[in-house]
Amino acid sequence: METPMREPTLDPADWSALRAVFHQAVDDGLAHLQGALDTPVWVAPPGSSKSALYEPLPRTATPAAEVYETFRNHVLPYGVGNVRPAFYGWVHGAGNAEGVLGELMAAFMNCNVGGRAHMANELERVVVDWCKDFTGLPAEASGLLTSGTSMATVLAIATARHVHADGDVGREGVAVAGRGLVGYASTEAHSCIAKAFDLLGLGRNALRAVPVNTAREMDSAALEAMIATDRAAGLKPFMVAATVGTVNTGAIDDIAGIGAIAHREGLWFHVDAAFGIGALFSDAHKAKAAPMARAESIAFDFHKWFQVPYDAGIVLIRDAKAHYETFAGRKEYLASSERGLAAGEPWYCDYGPELSRTFRALKVWFTLKSHGVDGISAIIAKNIAQARYLEDKVAAEPRLELLSPASLNIVCFRYVAPCDTAALNQLNKDIVADLQEAGIAAPSTTTLNGRTAIRVCLANHRTRRQDLDALLAGVLELGARRTAGSVAA
Ligand SMILES: *Cc1c(COP(=O)(O)O)cnc(C)c1O
Repeated sequence: METPMREPTLDPADWSALRAVFHQAVDDGLAHLQGALDTPVWVAPPGSSKSALYEPLPRTATPAAEVYETFRNHVLPYGVGNVRPAFYGWVHGAGNAEGVLGELMAAFMNCNVGGRAHMANELERVVVDWCKDFTGLPAEASGLLTSGTSMATVLAIATARHVHADGDVGREGVAVAGRGLVGYASTEAHSCIAKAFDLLGLGRNALRAVPVNTAREMDSAALEAMIATDRAAGLKPFMVAATVGTVNTGAIDDIAGIGAIAHREGLWFHVDAAFGIGALFSDAHKAKAAPMARAESIAFDFHKWFQVPYDAGIVLIRDAKAHYETFAGRKEYLASSERGLAAGEPWYCDYGPELSRTFRALKVWFTLKSHGVDGISAIIAKNIAQARYLEDKVAAEPRLELLSPASLNIVCFRYVAPCDTAALNQLNKDIVADLQEAGIAAPSTTTLNGRTAIRVCLANHRTRRQDLDALLAGVLELGARRTAGSVAA
């Protein structure tokens, strides 16, 4: 008798052994989060771990338990540190355990959310509907989950370009249909807007940098003057991007005022609320942010202040038809049908450049359901109060100087010593690197009016006041140690 041919599969020969690896991994993962309060914020990846990983492409199989062990020893301990409470750099969310559950189960389901009739598609619509609801965009608006605000911005500006071009810019190209298009964002706007202009063929020079006032908010009068100058030169102003929560200082542009100018001038009004979307959930900041409801498009992140694990952002577009027209165009093999698996219209592949898409909505849904808007709002309020606390402490300490007030959740300050600006800038850069390498705290730096700032962004649900006290104590101690020799000399 012939033995039946054993065809290869990637499923394990022994499911129970693999199950044990999974259980261990989930325990380790939860311990990683639970232990986040008691571990150094950052540990530089050691050379030994790097050399353990840089190996030739594996040809033969390795048991999952062994692969997992390599990960556990050489990768897991050396993350960026944003799950830990003393992480204040750039703008990073900390994630949350229930969000991890969503990420894990999305991987198990392994759905492609480009379209078709299945529940992952439906759940993305649920999340998009919730976002339309709290931003105040109408129910007819469209939305798409993205990798983050950078990609969401590309999609928003692509749609604006489609609407304002002279002809079919998607077919004819910008050289024919996009000539003279210019847009506006403040000097404090995120670099992803200029990058989008670049990617969309408009060119970075076509994005005008509008000056800011002393609060680092877009200067509306300058915006109006720049639009007039460009029109007089025969150019075609088509969009304005305002920011709710700038990266440098957390400034919120005059959303109502800029929106009014944009609409009076017939321009597309885009709002970058990457982390500043949190302002909608703060009683103190809501009024300033709420006029984003009048925008043509809004881009923001779930992976920042909403604490959803990386990566997840969204673009919302008021004119769903324009959004569809910008990206639709399926060939015969992607035709949908009235019934069966190829039903389920609209398909998300018609609202962005990607056909195959991950099930991002699940971790967003798990996070919002598990914690509720109340839970997220409490974190936002806590972080804003912590920024005030830090600001007060800095103001009360003569060896520290506040470089920007705590607007929203960001505080910029520096250590001061009797030396010139260049030396002071270097000193503060060194203090930040020292804090990171010692695992005490992970702020980042920025430059404000030529002065290097220690920049603290509070967007982490695990941060406690004692962590901020430790940060300040660390800055003072390291600053004193670094200046001890040079000041005496
Ligand atoms: C983080 C950020 C972006 C970019 O978002 P990603 O999710 O990192 O792509 C854009 N604008 C602002 C204001 C940001 O803070």
